[in-house]
Amino acid sequence: MELFESPLALLNYLKKERNSGKSIGFVPTMGALHDGHISLIQASNGENDLTVASIFVNPLQFNNKKDLELYPRNLEKDLEMLEKAGCNVVFFPSATEIYKDLPVLKLNFGKLEEVMEGQFRPGHFNGVAIVVSKLFHFVGPDKAYFGQKDLQQVCIIRQLVKDLSFPLTLVCCPILREKDGLAMSSRNTRLSSQNRPVASKIYEALQLAKKTLLSEGIENTQKNVRNFLNQYKELELEYFEIADSETLEPVLNVKEHKQIALCIAVYLDGVRLIDNELIATGL
Ligand code: AMP
Repeated sequence: MELFESPLALLNYLKKERNSGKSIGFVPTMGALHDGHISLIQASNGENDLTVASIFVNPLQFNNKKDLELYPRNLEKDLEMLEKAGCNVVFFPSATEIYKDLPVLKLNFGKLEEVMEGQFRPGHFNGVAIVVSKLFHFVGPDKAYFGQKDLQQVCIIRQLVKDLSFPLTLVCCPILREKDGLAMSSRNTRLSSQNRPVASKIYEALQLAKKTLLSEGIENTQKNVRNFLNQYKELELEYFEIADSETLEPVLNVKEHKQIALCIAVYLDGVRLIDNELIATGL
């Protein structure tokens, strides 16, 4: 496995590989890796000659300083996991390497960022889109792999790739979960052992919504989810949205959408957790 901290060294290395005819799959991450990340590496390995992973905790996408400070970091273990998974190249630049000067450019995604993560984390998607654009330039992938776990991020990157004509294919990979349904996340390590079991209620709430949406409609489903979560005082609901899975606009009539996304964000132990579930309506 080849390791790079310098964007220029990475660019030069990958230029040679590309010129020798190799296709490149790219998996951007913020490290503190778990099996969810590894599933993206495996997806890339299956479809490309070379898999490149990046590990970069991007300060520009954190609107909460504390969250950035507390974000788990474990480079040594990450590198071990990537090596074992058959990743070929790892890029782990420093923040000063990526942001010699803070970008002046601001990327705005209109309606796509007015809801959910965009609404509750102002500036978040500007930071995501800027860093992902930089990484796309350094890596020049044929395919880039992102997780459905961050569904709004996938929608934002899809728009970015389209609007700026990045010559690559975006691949959206399914959510990997713990045995009790909790979506794997680097932030899960910050949950107390006492409250960790309560975190599975997020997935249960999504399943409850999935069961009732088509039969009981939007209003009742909203009520059911809120009543269900209210039983667990440790969980603080930030949002539960029933949205179109591509435009992310709120669904008013279930029958008008092909695929609906149930999206949720909660706080537990001061840790912000997000999850989602997709429903095909059969339209
Ligand atoms: P992060 O390190 O949190 O920025 O995540 C890096 C990539 O892994 C993103 O595309 C995430 O959506 C994806 N990812 C995070 N958690 C999971 C999961 N549980 N299952 C599948 N992919 C995930």
